Amino acid sequence: MLQFKLVLLGDSSVGKSSIVHRFVKDSFDELRESTIGAAFLSQTIKIKAEEQEEDVVIKFEIWDTAGQERYKSLAPMYYRNANAALVVYDLTQKDSLVKARSWVEELKNKVGDEDLVIFLVGNKLDLCEGEEDLRAVDTSEAKAYAEEQNLLFTEVSAKTGQGVKEVFRSIGEKLYASK
Ligand code: GDP
Repeated sequence: MLQFKLVLLGDSSVGKSSIVHRFVKDSFDELRESTIGAAFLSQTIKIKAEEQEEDVVIKFEIWDTAGQERYKSLAPMYYRNANAALVVYDLTQKDSLVKARSWVEELKNKVGDEDLVIFLVGNKLDLCEGEEDLRAVDTSEAKAYAEEQNLLFTEVSAKTGQGVKEVFRSIGEKLYASK
């Protein structure tokens, strides 16, 4: 079994804990208490790998960090030896993309992107449809930024689950391919 360390970074309330819980427990809890410091969860997935008869089992050790400014100094402890970082922003909060960009910069300066898979994730996609569409960040804007910075990118909803599994699957496949 392969093990990879993941870290979640991003402004508070963008839905980092909700994404992890959707992935690990396949549930969503509107009233979850916010993370203090950091929380640890693990989950295994199976991926199909080329030239392998059997599925490959990958275990993710996931560090969900608290977004509050007062915990910011703890983040390096979690990203320093991570294999992948999910940098999360809220599709309905423009400022949260600014914060996400500063995390990407910090990761590139401190870790270097050869050693780390960085996935930019726009969350709360369920709030971006219908008549009450609350979208504040265009897909094209975030996508262009991700391409320029060579990041993986997608939009998800921790609430409905849309796109969440695929994020972890892509990370698993990418890390497996480059191991
Ligand atoms: P964190 O501080 O980044 O870990 O964010 P949380 O996971 O604690 O979520 C912050 C708030 O956003 C909570 O009230 C969640 O219920 C809500 N939330 C998280 N993800 C989603 C989502 O995909 N859709 C909607 N509508 N709300 C979400």
